[in-house]
Amino acid sequence: MNYPVYLDYNSTTPCAPQVIEAMLPWFAEHFGNSASKSHAFGWVAENAVDEAREQVANLIGAKSKEIVFTSGATEAINLAIKGIFEYYAEGKEKQHYITCQTEHKAVLDCHAELQKYGAEVTYLPVRSNGTLDLNLLKASIRPETKMISLMWANNETGIIHPIAEVAKIAQESNVIFFTDAVQAAGKIPVSVSGIHLLAISAHKFYGPKGIGALYIRHNHPLPKPLAQISGGGHEKGFRSGTLNIPAIVGMGKAAEMRLSEMEKDGNRLKILRDKLEQRLLELSDTVLNGGQNNRLPHVTNISFGGVEGEELLKRVCHKVAVSSGSACSSITPKPSHVLLAMGVDPDLGRASIRFSLGKHTSEQDLSEAGDCIVKVLEMLKKRN
Ligand SMILES: *Cc1c(COP(=O)(O)O)cnc(C)c1O
Repeated sequence: MNYPVYLDYNSTTPCAPQVIEAMLPWFAEHFGNSASKSHAFGWVAENAVDEAREQVANLIGAKSKEIVFTSGATEAINLAIKGIFEYYAEGKEKQHYITCQTEHKAVLDCHAELQKYGAEVTYLPVRSNGTLDLNLLKASIRPETKMISLMWANNETGIIHPIAEVAKIAQESNVIFFTDAVQAAGKIPVSVSGIHLLAISAHKFYGPKGIGALYIRHNHPLPKPLAQISGGGHEKGFRSGTLNIPAIVGMGKAAEMRLSEMEKDGNRLKILRDKLEQRLLELSDTVLNGGQNNRLPHVTNISFGGVEGEELLKRVCHKVAVSSGSACSSITPKPSHVLLAMGVDPDLGRASIRFSLGKHTSEQDLSEAGDCIVKVLEMLKKRN
C-alpha cells in the first residue's frame, strides 16, 4: 500500500512504539483481571492500572482517583452528559443545558437526546472566526441550568475556547462545567482547575484506540454523573466492565510521553503549519476558516473558492490524507456543521480542507502536500 502524506492527525494518530512496547506484556504474560483481589494475577494487573491512572491524571493536573477509564471519548462524553441529566431527572426538576453549535457530534447528539427526554438546550452560536461570545454565555444561564458543555479546542479549526473564563462563569452560577478536551490533551497544557468533568481519548495523542477517560471532580458539592453502564461496579461504580488493561497501560504511557514532548512538538509544528498556511493563503480565492489567534499549533482549515469541493478532495486524496469540510456520509455531502456555524458559505464549506499535523510530519511532507494542492487547483480552474 502506497500511502499518501498523512495530515489528518486530528482524526487519529499512530501508536508510539514505546506505547506498543508497554502494552505487549499485558495481553498474555500478565493477563490477570484487575478486579481479582485474591491472587497475584489480579494484584499485578491492579498495580499496572494504578500507575496508568496516575500517568493520565498527571497529563491534566488531576488526582488519579478522579480518572474513570472508558472505551473512548465518545463514551466519556455520553457518561458526562446523560449521567448528569439522569441525576437530576430523579428529582423531576426542569432542566436546561448550554452547549455550542461547533461542538463534536458526540456532544451535540447527546444533547439532542436530552431534548427528547424533556430537557431544554441552548446551542450557542460562534463568531465568524469560531470564537465564543462570553456575554452571551452568561446571559444564557437560567436558574434551571444544570450544565455547560464547551470543548477545549475545536477538532475542525483548532480554535481554543477561553476555558478558564468559562470555568469562572460556571462557578459563579454554581453550574457544572464539562469540557471535551480530546483535541487539547497532549497537545497544549490542560489543567482541570475549575472544571467538573473532562473527556479525553488516547488515540488522539499517540495511544491506542478504544480507550479514553472521564475526569470527575472529587470533593465538590455539585453532583456527579450516574453510571451509564451497570454491572460489577468497576471504576468506583461509574463504569462497570472488566478493565481493558493493555489499552489502559498504553494510554498511561502515551500520556506520560506527551507531557514531556508536547511543547517541543507544538513549537516545531507551528512553524511548519504557518508555512503551509501562508503558501495556500497566497493563492487566489483561498480563505482561512477561524482566526489565527488562540488555536492549536498543528491545525489549519482552509476554503478553496472557485472549485467544486468534491472534485478537489477526490483529486487531492491520492497524494494527501486530509479531512474535508463536508460530511461525506450522505449522498449529497453537507458542509460541516462547524463551518456553517461560523457563517461559511455552504459551497465554500464543501471546498474546505482541514490539515492537521503531528509528530511524524516533516517539512518534505508539507511541501509535497502544498505542491499537490496547487497543481489540483490549477487543473480544476483551467477546466472551469
Ligand atoms: C475524536 C473526538 C472525539 C471522539 O473520541 P473517540 O475516543 O474517538 O470516541 C470527541 N471529541 C472530539 C473533539 C474529538 O476530536
